[in-house]
Amino acid sequence: MEETFADIEKDIDKAFRALPIFKLPLDVALIDCLTVFQRTMFETVDIRSFLPFDAAIVHFKEALQILVPELYRNCPTPRLAKYPFNTPRVLDVAQQALIFCTHYSSFIHSFTLHHYGWFEGHISDNIVSFSYPEGFNFGLGQLNLRLHIHREEKKLRQARETVLYPLSNPPEIVFKKLREMVQSKSRYILHSVPDEVHTAHLEIIKAGMPVPTIDCTSKIGSYTLGQYYDFWCEFAALMLDHYSFCRERSTVEDINQVIADSILSFTVDEIVTLVTRRLGLAAEIVKDMTREMVLNLNVKRPDILIQPLLPLPPDKVLIAPSLIFTANWELCLLRNWSQRYPDIYSRTIAQKKSSLANAVGTLFDSRRFIVETNRKLKDEHGIEVGDVDVAVFDPHEGCLALFEVKWILEADSARESKAAEDQILKGIKQVKDNKARFESDPQHFLDSVFRQRRLHAPDIKCVIIALVGNGDIGGDQSQHEGVPVFDYDLTSEVINELEGCSIEKILSSVSERHNAFAKEIAQKECVMKVKAAGYLLQLPGWGDTQPEDSYESGEPPKIFRTAPCPCGSGRKYKDCCKRIEQYSDNAL
Ligand SMILES: [Zn+2]
Repeated sequence: MEETFADIEKDIDKAFRALPIFKLPLDVALIDCLTVFQRTMFETVDIRSFLPFDAAIVHFKEALQILVPELYRNCPTPRLAKYPFNTPRVLDVAQQALIFCTHYSSFIHSFTLHHYGWFEGHISDNIVSFSYPEGFNFGLGQLNLRLHIHREEKKLRQARETVLYPLSNPPEIVFKKLREMVQSKSRYILHSVPDEVHTAHLEIIKAGMPVPTIDCTSKIGSYTLGQYYDFWCEFAALMLDHYSFCRERSTVEDINQVIADSILSFTVDEIVTLVTRRLGLAAEIVKDMTREMVLNLNVKRPDILIQPLLPLPPDKVLIAPSLIFTANWELCLLRNWSQRYPDIYSRTIAQKKSSLANAVGTLFDSRRFIVETNRKLKDEHGIEVGDVDVAVFDPHEGCLALFEVKWILEADSARESKAAEDQILKGIKQVKDNKARFESDPQHFLDSVFRQRRLHAPDIKCVIIALVGNGDIGGDQSQHEGVPVFDYDLTSEVINELEGCSIEKILSSVSERHNAFAKEIAQKECVMKVKAAGYLLQLPGWGDTQPEDSYESGEPPKIFRTAPCPCGSGRKYKDCCKRIEQYSDNAL
């Protein structure tokens, strides 16, 4: 019988629903998942594990993001709201479920892209292969991801510099203090963290976290964005205190015991008391902020990356410290706001967009260029017909550049990528319309846009249009519209390196930098392979090495027929991925 995509999706969903973890009581399942996650974080040794943007743990967090809401839906609710003392830990069940979910998330992602028509698909036996449609520019299509990595590397370098040098308390003192606490046989230090330790961790958090990019006085509900930032830093630093203490303990005590202790359970009020001890914020405000961090199970897609406190009935929340200090607070806040207060959120975004336009404007040297930002366009009756975000005139060359700017939350799902792409396409249309308006009545256009100096239509020898995106620059579709789409960060980097150049030279350099990235990606294109529940998924990807031959010589390790399948499904190997065993699993 010929299988369809829907059949396979259903079959893999079925395997997901049958994961053994769903038979555990909810509290056990939740605590064990967080423990496995926390253990993985303990195993990463670099400063990376303190920072929100590390790609190595993103996959793992995605698995938690998929699994946790389903635990609430499927696991039996326990009678006791604490980890039952006599329940044996079933960490390998949680581990397997999370492994399965890392594979499962690739399947879901690919099926969604296929559904949107971004992927072409092909099924043969138990192999599902996806590819981009013909003519797709792979390098440009993956540019967003490359830019994301570029930004992360930059932030990581900055954070390392901060952590290595100007801490007001040198790491030796911090470790000495932590060791003293360990020697005193403490198991829990949050009520008595030494100031030296806390101050150092607060500095690390501030160095690693993105700084606010919206006006700190923006207020929604009972608090401002600036207050929320302070709250988050304090909370994250406390979690880092606890985490570092547990790490220190694990050098002398049983690691399993320490990791079990590293998962915290609090009431919201207890968190409020902890956080307000050092922070001069009213308890009521901190309570609102804390409540908004508790996973909301009443929405269609509860998201633990936005709301990392997991409710444990009747009144506790579970906390994996690393989930707190690796979260991107501003993204969390904005996503939360966009769900809870959509109107206020769109106003905030409008404000953000106009400040981005100003930021783009200031990239261009005002001694050399005439720059205008956020200008309204009106027709001859004075009716508003559109706006120009940024206009730059280069008097030396007679060149006019018109930019539309887009401020978009970085997409972390296929659905959001689709929304981002739509916004970019809209921006492209706007900037094309502006060019058409200029062409139909150049003098009227110039008079509406340029206030500082009157420009004369014959002075304009050429018009360039471009889109500048912050956070996302769309995918392959938007690259085909004949309008360049630039990343704000990369653009500012390039402009800072160039001085005294014409606008044409500047923009062609920005273009070149984007193309160099795209070319680099295209050269690294490869087929990613993922196995789950007896299916092999092949999808386009890119990477530094082709890990095809991970077994340098000799036979790959033999898996016994009755052993649990390595895909994490909880089934026996012979009933699961054995049917695709001839395909090496080079990605996952
Ligand atoms: Zn399997």
